Amino acid sequence: MIKSGYFKKHLRVDLTAGTAERVDLPDAFLERYIGGRGFGAKLVWDNLRHRDFKIDPLGPENLMVVAPGPLTGAYLPSSGKNSFVAIAPATGLYGDSSIGGSFGVELRQAGIDALSITGRAPVLSILFIDNGPAAIVPMPELAGKGCLETEGIIEERLGTHSIKTAAIGVAGENLVRFACINADWSRNAGRTGMGAVMGSKNLKAIVVRGHHDLPVHDIEGLVEEARRATAYMRDHPYFKIWHREGLMAVMDYANDVGILPTRNFRDSVFPGIEKINSQTMLDHYKIGDAACFGCPMSCGNICLVKDGRYAGVVTEGPEYESCAMLGSNLGVDNFAAVLAANQLCDDLGVDTISTGNLIGAVIEGYEEGILTLSDLDGLEITWGNEGAVLEMIRKIAHREGIGDVLAGGSRAVIGIWPEMDNIILQVKGLEQSAYDSRAALSMALAYATSDIGAHHTRAWTVARELEEGQAWSIEEKVDTVIYHQKLRPLFDMLGVCRLPWIELGLNERHYENFYRYVTGNGLSLEQLLGLSNDIYDLTRIINTRLGVSREDDSLPYKVHSRPVLTGPNAGRVIDREEFQRALSLYYRKRGWDENGIPPAGLEDKFGD
Ligand code: SF4
Repeated sequence: MIKSGYFKKHLRVDLTAGTAERVDLPDAFLERYIGGRGFGAKLVWDNLRHRDFKIDPLGPENLMVVAPGPLTGAYLPSSGKNSFVAIAPATGLYGDSSIGGSFGVELRQAGIDALSITGRAPVLSILFIDNGPAAIVPMPELAGKGCLETEGIIEERLGTHSIKTAAIGVAGENLVRFACINADWSRNAGRTGMGAVMGSKNLKAIVVRGHHDLPVHDIEGLVEEARRATAYMRDHPYFKIWHREGLMAVMDYANDVGILPTRNFRDSVFPGIEKINSQTMLDHYKIGDAACFGCPMSCGNICLVKDGRYAGVVTEGPEYESCAMLGSNLGVDNFAAVLAANQLCDDLGVDTISTGNLIGAVIEGYEEGILTLSDLDGLEITWGNEGAVLEMIRKIAHREGIGDVLAGGSRAVIGIWPEMDNIILQVKGLEQSAYDSRAALSMALAYATSDIGAHHTRAWTVARELEEGQAWSIEEKVDTVIYHQKLRPLFDMLGVCRLPWIELGLNERHYENFYRYVTGNGLSLEQLLGLSNDIYDLTRIINTRLGVSREDDSLPYKVHSRPVLTGPNAGRVIDREEFQRALSLYYRKRGWDENGIPPAGLEDKFGD
């Protein structure tokens, strides 16, 4: 039974009607869907059903849910997460992306557990939630402003710095299908195009100010559990590495084990690694740490370019994904250039993973003769040509020339040049994250079955498979993918970061205890995992209702057909038959049919 932990308020905004009303959230809803991604999946599902499953991701009818979780901001480690959920412009399917920092904390402090936004404002506007009540404020003067500048202009206009802002850049306004949402300077809800959903609604920013104390059932119990978890993290032998280097520590690891995307995943070992690894960052660029709310790991790296062509560039990051996709994947071995590209992506508001992936595909497509110089507007883009990379990022956000095609994502590119299907790495229309899966069947299966497309956070199993080696059976690989897919929604539902669990092995039981102390609801970890797994079933149901079936759970051409060139995984591809066997086993274990369709009765679990 829910005793505390929520304000029980859902703010429903209709930008077409110009209305914002607060409605009560019933206890049964809170208990069943917990928060964050759980609230989002359920509300998006309800909206789809009421619209007979006909939704244009960029139409006013696409409902976007913004939801922290009951643990967001509750003074426990790494509790600053917030989810954005909608039908995704990148895929046309279920989509979500989470953001750290403290935007979600402020939303909670404003007394809001879930915000849903539909419709389209008549002019470019912001939504200002001021400690509960909300107003839609026209601000057409923000048109064309970068994410970073937008925050400052809004603070000036509202006359306060005591606000948190989630904003889109030029890319979101221009409906780039992989536009992101930026908050807290450099934190991004990067994947699946949530920034384009905001842009389609003429919504430049969501601005929040909140003063409420968060409701907690057992504050002494929570503080004690938070102390235990924090002590465990601080005593962990890897803690100092994550604190010092953040996810940049993965660069050397990925290169050493041969999974680092290099020149559009042609290879998985980068000769220039020492120029873009964490040691280079520490020696020449890092000037400070950055953390999400309540996080002792503080994995963010604030970096400054002190001299040379990019002097003055300052940004939080890059983390591993951005450095790999804008660095080694494009043949760029200059860390200052990677920082400049990262900052440009953040300010224009494009996802670094999709951007690096698509530009890599363009370079290879040009090299292979699929694309001509004329197709590229005369921009001679080759491996390591950092100036051309920066120009291509700008063209994408502004939808200029070739940038206009790339702004439509993988499918748009393949629609014009079908041969690019063999070059681009994508699943269900979402460009692949920065882990080469040819070395690990489980990672390939994770990408193929991910509900949002080829994204690593649904199930990051590659390191485990490389450790286990040949001793790991197909069944163990399938089971591990399913366990990750079952557990990981729970982090997004609760509103906490997954990294303490992944990187430091923080025990799942802490989250059971945190949830109980905050809400007073005595669900066991196993019951919480059951609810979390239900969300994975629900998003599969949403996708199958939108047309997904087995043939969509497939891998990019290269993963099956282009062997890794050098390094420890030279010659490796994923065998097609073995992959299909693993996929069938995966469906059986999930209780879906041979075509990947969940049983018809399962939908009843998610009725009113
Ligand atoms: Fe944020 Fe990094 Fe901490 Fe996670 S580990 S909460 S991403 S600072």
